[in-house]
Amino acid sequence: MSQIDDLPPLRDVIRIHELQARKSLGQNFLLDLNLTLKVARTAGDLSDCAVLEVGPGPGGLTRALLVAGARRVVAVEKDPRCLPALAEIAAHYPGRLEVLEADALTIDLERVADGGPLKIVANLPYNVGTQLLVDWITSANWPPVWQSLTLMFQKEVAERIVAAPGSKAYGRLGVLAGWRCHATLAFEVGPKAFTPPPKVTSAIVHLTPRKAPLDCDLKALERLTAAAFGQRRKMLRASLKPLAADAEARIAAAGIEPTMRAEQLEIADFVKLANAFAAG
Ligand code: SAM
Repeated sequence: MSQIDDLPPLRDVIRIHELQARKSLGQNFLLDLNLTLKVARTAGDLSDCAVLEVGPGPGGLTRALLVAGARRVVAVEKDPRCLPALAEIAAHYPGRLEVLEADALTIDLERVADGGPLKIVANLPYNVGTQLLVDWITSANWPPVWQSLTLMFQKEVAERIVAAPGSKAYGRLGVLAGWRCHATLAFEVGPKAFTPPPKVTSAIVHLTPRKAPLDCDLKALERLTAAAFGQRRKMLRASLKPLAADAEARIAAAGIEPTMRAEQLEIADFVKLANAFAAG
């Protein structure tokens, strides 16, 4: 394992600052700085933007983001035990790392961006990861304040985010992500890369906002996908019946065969259906 900076190895950082991982905070730390550098590089050029990192922990990904050239990193950590270790990194990179002790669910992205471009890069805590992603991709303003999201999830969640129609993983998350973003699974990371190792494989997902998502009301799309995938084995004329008495006519008016099932529909079909059901 080659050195990427002059700071101590992460194993020493964890020992010195007594950062035994806590399950309640979703703490699975990455200790291989070459791997965290690979994650940072997946986010592309960081030199011209602010980077928000959720959950820096002992700082493995934070250090990689700084080595990769991030102009400014804002790292939001809920666990106060990590702050002294992060302060050492901030001292090593004067003026480039700001650490906020806070819950990432409450962070105002506009403030972090400070008028400039913003990228979000994180090895997310599994307990709030999906919620954060949904918050970011359902932003009321679109295009959003962020330029890209480069995020570690459990592989099963990553597959749902990038899922294509017809696949088992295709569902509400995939429709939402695909409607508003281009989403790709960049690479997988095995359990052994983490301390402690989780039970499952993880994966990095990279999302960039679509400039002009198909015109659709978000609430209507959410209602529609919840109904359609809530009973994914049923034909649309049955699964969408609770949404309107004339469901079958609305499906047909959208140009879609009422005998189709949710997982067979393209994202554009969901948009057509959401609009057909939102109409008075
Ligand atoms: N970035 C580090 C790494 O890659 O080794 C740690 C990743 S660990 C999977 C998730 C981190 O998120 C932990 O440091 C945990 O304390 C922090 N965390 C958990 N819930 C959080 C929340 N709601 N807001 C901010 N940080 C949180």
